[in-house]
Amino acid sequence: MAKYIEIDKKRFVKLLAPDTIAAAVRSMANNITRDFSHKSPVMLVVLNGSFIFAADLLRQLDFPLDISFIKIKSYAGTTQQNLVWELEPDMNLQNRTVIIIEDIVDTGNTLMAIHEKVIQMGALSCDVATLFFKPDTYRGRLQILYFGLQIAPAFVIGYGLDVNGKGRNLPALYQLEK
Ligand code: 5GP
Repeated sequence: MAKYIEIDKKRFVKLLAPDTIAAAVRSMANNITRDFSHKSPVMLVVLNGSFIFAADLLRQLDFPLDISFIKIKSYAGTTQQNLVWELEPDMNLQNRTVIIIEDIVDTGNTLMAIHEKVIQMGALSCDVATLFFKPDTYRGRLQILYFGLQIAPAFVIGYGLDVNGKGRNLPALYQLEK
């Protein structure tokens, strides 16, 4: 697999191999099974970026659960006021155990907005499972109990994550070269 990839005149270098990502997803599936297998949770998949992670993770969970898709648009470098809901949860979340399935948590702004909405909708609890986590830039109040891999605060693409709509199909994770 290519060590470097160029998209829109930007150069990206391979950061994490597919095997490393797969092992992290397996480990998250084990932890989520341990903690939620008797709680019939609702998995809220955050589109678009989480679609590949969600497909890999959810097929490793063999207990009863519901899946719903949400979409929220965030504008880089802005605060929660600049988040726009494009697709809201289409299920009744009253008294449900909810897990937000995220591709990546950076500042946590998006996550906090989703969390607030879920609690407003009457959920019993709301946790997050994010594959990639940037702890150095995270400013959210919610503790991230389920994450796959911590990464440095650089822009990454691949495994669902895009740059201007491209790169989501890459099986590895690539980081923008400085
Ligand atoms: P946050 O609100 O936590 O700052 O950012 C969350 C959202 O910003 C993610 O769901 C993702 O859409 C986008 N994002 C944050 N960091 C990256 C990154 O390194 N690469 C890409 N492609 N998107 C990112």
